[in-house]
Amino acid sequence: NRLRHVDSMASLPSGAGSIRELNAVILGESLASEENHLVFPSDDFSKQALISSPQQYLEMYKRSIEDPSGFWSDIASNFYWKKKWDQNLIYSENLDVTKGDVSIQWFKGGITNICYNCLDANIESGNGDKIALYWQGNEPHVDGSLTYTQLLHRVCQLANFLKDNGVQKGDTVIIYLPMIMELPITMLACARIGAVHSVVFAGYSAESLHQRVMDCKPKIMITCNAVMRGKKTIDLKNIVDAALLESSQNGITVGLCLTFENESAMKKEATKWEKGRDIWWQDVVPKCSTICDVEWVDAEDPLFLLYTSGSTGKPKGVLHTTGGYMIYTATTFKYAFDYKDSDIYWCTADCGWITGHSYVTYGPLLNGATVVLYEGVPNYPDSGRCWEIVDKYKVTIFYTAPTLVRSLMRDGNEYVTRYSRKSLRILGSVGEPINPSAWRWFFNVVGDSRCPISDTWWQTETGGFMITPLPGAWPQKPGSATFPFFGVQPVIVDEKGNEIDGECSGYLCVKSSWPGAFRTLYGDHERYETTYFKAFPGYYFSGDGCSRDKDGYHWLTGRVDDVINVSGHRIGTAEVESALVSHPQCAEAAVVGVEHEVKGQGIYAFITLVEGVPYSEDLRKSLVLVVRSQIGAFAAPDKIHWAPSLPKTRSGKIMRRILRKIASRQLEELGDTSTLADPGVVDQLIALADS
Ligand code: ATP
Ligand code: MG
Repeated sequence: NRLRHVDSMASLPSGAGSIRELNAVILGESLASEENHLVFPSDDFSKQALISSPQQYLEMYKRSIEDPSGFWSDIASNFYWKKKWDQNLIYSENLDVTKGDVSIQWFKGGITNICYNCLDANIESGNGDKIALYWQGNEPHVDGSLTYTQLLHRVCQLANFLKDNGVQKGDTVIIYLPMIMELPITMLACARIGAVHSVVFAGYSAESLHQRVMDCKPKIMITCNAVMRGKKTIDLKNIVDAALLESSQNGITVGLCLTFENESAMKKEATKWEKGRDIWWQDVVPKCSTICDVEWVDAEDPLFLLYTSGSTGKPKGVLHTTGGYMIYTATTFKYAFDYKDSDIYWCTADCGWITGHSYVTYGPLLNGATVVLYEGVPNYPDSGRCWEIVDKYKVTIFYTAPTLVRSLMRDGNEYVTRYSRKSLRILGSVGEPINPSAWRWFFNVVGDSRCPISDTWWQTETGGFMITPLPGAWPQKPGSATFPFFGVQPVIVDEKGNEIDGECSGYLCVKSSWPGAFRTLYGDHERYETTYFKAFPGYYFSGDGCSRDKDGYHWLTGRVDDVINVSGHRIGTAEVESALVSHPQCAEAAVVGVEHEVKGQGIYAFITLVEGVPYSEDLRKSLVLVVRSQIGAFAAPDKIHWAPSLPKTRSGKIMRRILRKIASRQLEELGDTSTLADPGVVDQLIALADS
């Protein structure tokens, strides 16, 4: 059914003139029902694209589903394998809890190393002098770079140090580093020797870091003394000290803490030090040899574990293995960003999140790409910083999150238009549904209506993109993640777990496995099965809601626990939020359900406003009106709660769990707020609750 919808899209007009006209009409309007708007890639863009038409996508997609072994082994053959996987067994899986333990394996028996494929293989094919990493410090004049060969040498030095200090294949290493080059270097060094890295975002509190230490019991901790974020200096070493102290009081002692001196943020002398445990990176690593043999590992040996961002409760240690993850991140990167050798790629995500694993480090480096790393924050020294960086490095692919798009949109266009941005050719979005109005601003203002937007839906658990536009192939619809990637079979099921077809809305699941799928939750396979495979036996359940429109486009509606039921109408939070932020004076919105005597649930909307706009009764009314006219009277918010800012996780996602408690005034039950980026926001919100 889906395929037929896709086919009919192919018959849409394709002359250059008509495309431009269509674009003008589409983007000039701001009609209520946005699903019908199509934004076409230009003919010039499509012509040069790897996947340049819906037909080409369809053929490849069809093969990837009907013959996964052939499809993926053709791709995998372009990578280096010390020994090929068992030919008959490219994958084996059981996703059905009722039939036994859930298990997923890809390329089993294949022997490889992802660090080798990222570095040595690229150097052998002549890319040794190509820039692998451009590093941009917090201060505009502080920067650096490494070629592929230089990066390999740095990685080998650290890998040798780790080996000399007893780190062996299968051991865990926690990395608590900011966005300096040592972060990807450390990840790659671990991978080179078969150690399992667990990066903890260097913004997490000592308590959160301690919990992760207790869970994965690392052999070594790798950190740096401090980092500058904007004008703030953050003493990371203090946080690590507190976390390690608490862990050792609870029976887990980490014997070695390798500490990089981040000189521009803090001098050695000012850093607290624990003799016997702490070692300065600069004192030992540069002395190690720049040659380090690779530890060859099985495709199914673990590569890393990463704790999810925690917007819904206790963090889960998501475990990824080597071979499938390697093939999947490289391939998704290549096609979703239409990657070319000449591209300069910048993803604003921190390596502390999955996005920084798959699409700052592994995916791009496997393709031999040049990657920009940025240490600082997007609004320092001012809100034009991102575009200053884009111009400085001639960035061609810019990948970020809706939260950043909305905040820059709120700061005004002048910060953007001050810079050329001529080099940009593709934009990307991840982390939350991108509201159509934010999509349009990103497209029109940042991309000068020239750059397709890859709105990539995926999760820590999926390893790589699952539903994503292929920028040269499809006309886009603002706010839709469009179609599945090769090899991915998304299905929408109803409450009883029946697949529903055509135009529909329900729970987003995936049928059968894909190479980048996670294999377990670290140390808790039972929780893995319960959380992801029990709700709808036979499927991987994403936890997200999704609807599919008449053309087969997918629209993510938020987490299913965020769906609100008003008088029997099921309303996705994303939908109401998008309507609210389409109001020119509303910067951001977060919607939750509250108990309602008559309707069952009522809609409670938290909003922030564009810089300088005061909140008033008239504004409240016009916000409610926007929702009434775009969605319907049944979705009109019962309460609008104005706030200067919203509580977010450290990866920038709105924490609805806490907003629900504030909305229902259950203030004693706010729960764990330690994963919030700024816990102070909560008090502010409570103070404004009844004003
Ligand atoms: P936790 O699982 O601990 O609550 P999390 O789900 O926020 O944390 P991630 O794995 O980083 O951690 O985020 C994945 C989720 O982000 C998806 O399940 C989805 O809700 C949302 N998401 C990511 N990309 C998109 C996108 N392009 N469109 C819509 N939603 C997205
Ligand atoms: Mg999640």
